[in-house]
Amino acid sequence: MNVTASNFLQANVKKSKVSLLCFYSLFFLSSCSNEEIQCSADIYAMNTLISISAWGDESKEAIKEGERFIYSLDATFSTTRSTSEISQLNQGEGEWQTVSQEVADVVSFALDIAEKTDSAFDPTIYPIVQAWGFTQSEYQVPSQKELDTLLEFVDYQWVELDEETNALRMPQEVQLDFGALAKGYAVDMLVDIFQDHHIRSGMLALGGNIYALGQKTDGSLWNIGIQNPYGGGSIGVLQVADKAVITSGGYQRYFTDPDTGTTYCHIIDPRTGYPITEGLASVTIVSESGMLGDALSTAIFVMGLEDATDFWRTYGDFDMILICSQGNVHITSGIADSFSLSKGYTLGEIVVIYDS
Ligand code: AMP
Ligand code: MG
Repeated sequence: MNVTASNFLQANVKKSKVSLLCFYSLFFLSSCSNEEIQCSADIYAMNTLISISAWGDESKEAIKEGERFIYSLDATFSTTRSTSEISQLNQGEGEWQTVSQEVADVVSFALDIAEKTDSAFDPTIYPIVQAWGFTQSEYQVPSQKELDTLLEFVDYQWVELDEETNALRMPQEVQLDFGALAKGYAVDMLVDIFQDHHIRSGMLALGGNIYALGQKTDGSLWNIGIQNPYGGGSIGVLQVADKAVITSGGYQRYFTDPDTGTTYCHIIDPRTGYPITEGLASVTIVSESGMLGDALSTAIFVMGLEDATDFWRTYGDFDMILICSQGNVHITSGIADSFSLSKGYTLGEIVVIYDS
């Protein structure tokens, strides 16, 4: 698929992110049915439950190859496995290191998005994520002094990538984390694998990262539930085909400081080192590229409603559903007709965001 941040400016790329409930059938672990030519698998990898389903003559091969790909991607991008390519890079001492084509592609994309979002998304956030304890689930509030020291090396501009030779160099203190876009990248690669196997209908769900390939086997659109960040169930349903629907939300991972009662979530503003504590409750990006949707859902969560609206008006080519902390649901005009709010959702109303 090879979507880059540059062609996101021109191509029809739509994004969204949310913890989505998919109204499709989940099958058992690596189950296949010859009659329906359908096959699916449930896997735990990349720190999340992954469900992939395919319909087509080569569905079994597509699922097998997809499973293999997910495990290999996990082994490459994990920050917690010391043997992963990313961990090896993070253990470097400031020298030039040669990276795989896969890592070079993701780094290149990440640097481009970091620039366009003015560092709302920044792949060098890892030391800050660690300082708050999100890596090992040992939560704590770091001191301002510690954050100030770490922030000096939280800046994508420290990373040099030579795209001719796939050589990368960064100061020893800089640590990379692709947790905010690796699942989206996985989605794009899985779509490629499915398409290579002529899959006409497929559903990928990697935590809050969804891709609906083609249409359902009966020719209708997929119904994707957008999770209610304030409780169980969904706030509404989005109808899509051939789209990534990707959600970031403060409710997905957080802790409460017992001393102050403040709740801190896992999405952090790289410019302050602090988790986002107000503004949006969740961001769903609807796009053609999963990697774009994943990166932008994180970035737009950091930006908040006003900057997100400006960003969308500047770059367009994706759609979004923003659930505000007051309960209103802001949705861009491109998907306004495809989304319906649940009757039971009474915390707010739909506000459509138009081009100007
Ligand atoms: P997501 O769930 O896709 O929004 O990604 C959140 C994860 O990305 C976190 O658990 C961190 O590992 C990392 N992260 C947090 N904040 C940022 C940020 N502003 N830019 C890039 N990565 C981030
Ligand atoms: Mg993300």
